[in-house]
Amino acid sequence: MLADLHMHSEYSEDAKPDASVASICCASIQRGLDIIALTDHKDFHYNKHPMPLDIESQQRDIRRCRAQYGGQLTVLYGVELGEIHVSPEAPDFLAAYQFDEVIGSLHTMPPDDIDIYFLPYGRMDCEAFLHTYFDELLKMVRHGGFDVLGHIDYPLRVMKKAGYEPTFVGYEARIEQVLREIIDREIALEINAAGLFGWQKQAGPPRFVLEMYRNLGGTMLSIGSDSHCAPDAGRGIGQCFAHARAAGFTELTVFRGRKPEQVSF
Ligand SMILES: [Zn+2]
Ligand SMILES: [Zn+2]
Repeated sequence: MLADLHMHSEYSEDAKPDASVASICCASIQRGLDIIALTDHKDFHYNKHPMPLDIESQQRDIRRCRAQYGGQLTVLYGVELGEIHVSPEAPDFLAAYQFDEVIGSLHTMPPDDIDIYFLPYGRMDCEAFLHTYFDELLKMVRHGGFDVLGHIDYPLRVMKKAGYEPTFVGYEARIEQVLREIIDREIALEINAAGLFGWQKQAGPPRFVLEMYRNLGGTMLSIGSDSHCAPDAGRGIGQCFAHARAAGFTELTVFRGRKPEQVSF
């Protein structure tokens, strides 16, 4: 069984050309995937309007693909919500549509709602920033309301600068706090392939985080490429499953109608 439960289509602002839902489904079938989830972006902010997302059109396209490719591929209705904890509009948005899987991610930081990707790390105390990041992440997981915690290691992907290699070593207590909260709330931890294609050359989060999660009693695991175009559908998924196996996991958590099912791999 191969699944990619984190994919972006043309309905995400940062998608690349050739990211129609149909082209992603075709690429997924070619790559041998059995289950995919389209999880386009909708970020909420402290001081800015929410990111627009044409969810009606996205869900219409998914519905068509389910009818067309149903025998070959399971296509789930998903969304990646950024900063669910900062806006009362987020629960209203979720209540207005039917979703299989909701990823909760922390992309932007207060007070300026700047994406972690764009922060000026060259001029920043990165170690202090990681503590601020975990403060905000803890607020988000304590708020809950989502099914999968997306890319807990997002800062590690983007903070690398001359003379500094970002690491979660030294932040074990902060990570443990977050993992305990998601275990209590039955939120799955995500293995995200994006790190494979950056400076780290490995899927995130680091192995010791997966092992800590398992030792704390965590069993709910999601896996996604975080692809933003059709050719990248399922990219790195095999390495993500290997990463999960190496940390002792044998089951993937697949949400349908926002209810978790454990699937062996
Ligand atoms: Zn994300
Ligand atoms: Zn994403």
